[in-house]
Amino acid sequence: MEKMGLNSNILKTLFVVCCIVFPFALTATLKFRNSSITFFEGFSENKVLGGETSQKNVTTRGSVQNITHENSEVLQGEIQNDRDPIEERTTSRNNTTPEIGSKNAPLISSSNSSSSDSIHDDQEKLLDGLLAFGFDEASCISRLQSHLYRKVSPHKPSRYLILKLRNYEELHRRCGPDSIAYNKSMAYIEHPKDNNGDGTMCKYLVWSPANGLGNRIISMAATFLYAILTDRVLLVRFGEDMHSLFCEPFLNSTWMLPTNSPLWNQEHVETYDSFLEKDKANNSKHDLPSALFLNHQFTKENPEKFFHCGHNQDLLRNVPLLISQTDQYFVPSLFMIPSFNLEINKMFPQKDTVFYHLAHYLYHPSNEAWRLITTFYPTYLAKVDERIGIQIRVFRPDITSNQAIMDLVLSCTIENKLLPKLDTQNSVSYSQNHTIKAVLVTSLSPNYGENLRAMYENKQSISGEVIEVYQPSHEEKQKFGDNMHNMKAWTEMYLLSLSDVLVTSSLSTFGYVAQGMGGLKPWILVKPHKKKPNSASCKQDFSSEPCFHYPPMHECNGKFQKHFSSSFPHLWECKDRHSGLKLVSEQRSVVSRPVTANKNMYKI
Ligand code: GDP
Repeated sequence: MEKMGLNSNILKTLFVVCCIVFPFALTATLKFRNSSITFFEGFSENKVLGGETSQKNVTTRGSVQNITHENSEVLQGEIQNDRDPIEERTTSRNNTTPEIGSKNAPLISSSNSSSSDSIHDDQEKLLDGLLAFGFDEASCISRLQSHLYRKVSPHKPSRYLILKLRNYEELHRRCGPDSIAYNKSMAYIEHPKDNNGDGTMCKYLVWSPANGLGNRIISMAATFLYAILTDRVLLVRFGEDMHSLFCEPFLNSTWMLPTNSPLWNQEHVETYDSFLEKDKANNSKHDLPSALFLNHQFTKENPEKFFHCGHNQDLLRNVPLLISQTDQYFVPSLFMIPSFNLEINKMFPQKDTVFYHLAHYLYHPSNEAWRLITTFYPTYLAKVDERIGIQIRVFRPDITSNQAIMDLVLSCTIENKLLPKLDTQNSVSYSQNHTIKAVLVTSLSPNYGENLRAMYENKQSISGEVIEVYQPSHEEKQKFGDNMHNMKAWTEMYLLSLSDVLVTSSLSTFGYVAQGMGGLKPWILVKPHKKKPNSASCKQDFSSEPCFHYPPMHECNGKFQKHFSSSFPHLWECKDRHSGLKLVSEQRSVVSRPVTANKNMYKI
């Protein structure tokens, strides 16, 4: 100490100074840290619609708004939604954290500040580990912001699902387009005779679209699960009409089939049906093709595919490339395949969350779609007490009148107390503290939104609640090959999925996407032409999973099987299609079963 020139008096002084300064320094550090942690706090106030603007928009009751490509620009300018939400959060911090669903609800699910918040925030952003870390945020804003628009999910992905996804990403990165393995594998697949097979390092599953966007979204999710279970790389054949709806789901790779791939045309590819014929004829002595076209379209007319049978899966396993064209959510049949049982059960211990997790993993709205969603939601849906989604799909307009549909919707929503009755005696006058319910109507026709709005605009409800009605678009008819049409459909499915309560139309896959992504058990409107005078207008579903409309009809030995729900405890017949199958949580299946089980047929 002498050498350092420090005498004991100096040391004492230093010690005293440290004692005084240290607590201050510590407090300041913690404060600073907390201020960055509470970054997300008060997001409610920055909901683009702060103060007067917000009030003005929210109380513009009952106007059916059209969110079109053109006027979305105007809308966006009007409500200044192009402000950076993160910047907003810092500028308008609010220390109270109102609950989701209240008028002052934040877009975020929760934001209590504590030292573990940054980890917690990352955890929330990555949906409890479902999403991989490391994506470029700007190229897909929704991936890390979507959690701000949903309540905290009660459905956590299993560790095994997370592991399978990380493994899949690694496979996709190694074998995906532009990799060496991809080029080698494709060279073999295209010209198997010229190659000795060394190139078959990777196996592929090419998804090909069929029908509307709802069908496509549910079938892609099922195809992805099949790819994971069979160690195949999923590639998608998106036409122009599906461009820029979704972000790329896999880190450091693409899922798009390269535009120069000969696999855009499957005419020269052997079909699964002919392959099965050959197999039947000369058992295992037939040549294995390098690619197969699996027309997985399920219709009543199509012969049974026996896709759910172990033998056929064994055959398919060795085919390097499958092109699958399907419009169905065939996940229930994957549960029937013995070799997948263990895996799939470990991945999804809670059986009614398969689509929920797969969809939250795969489908992130592109920046363009996200802009539409994040324009509409804060303007019309965020600052209300409850959001009610009503999805109206009319499959038989030839035999169903608008009035019949309207009656169905009203009796369903009023009888089940989703919407209040009208007070026919008094004219409109609302108290200061009225509850506001926003109804999001989606339909191809403008009639339903307009009628519902007119109804609640002109009369007070007996409950005193204010009912606002919004319908983002009315496309009049389903269009094919139209990108903006699909963009609107996707945006609306997503907005519906943010509802607190959902009413859907029987058999509509558009509704299935919304309920599945929202984890909602919707009220399903009965088919209007099947409605009997005193029967219920809608029934609440028991699971948010999509219904598989065309499950297999035969056991693997060829025996006719009336309904597979009798053999699998977590597969039930769908409420909107009795021959259909859907996944339910195991717990529920134990409580009550619709059909007596034959538990010995397959062991799951
Ligand atoms: P499904 O036919 O009801 O099973 O649903 P799909 O989504 O497979 O096909 C219907 C298609 O029609 C949608 O993808 C949209 O293109 C269009 N469509 C049907 N209903 C609506 C709607 O409410 N809003 C919008 N924007 N499009 C709709």
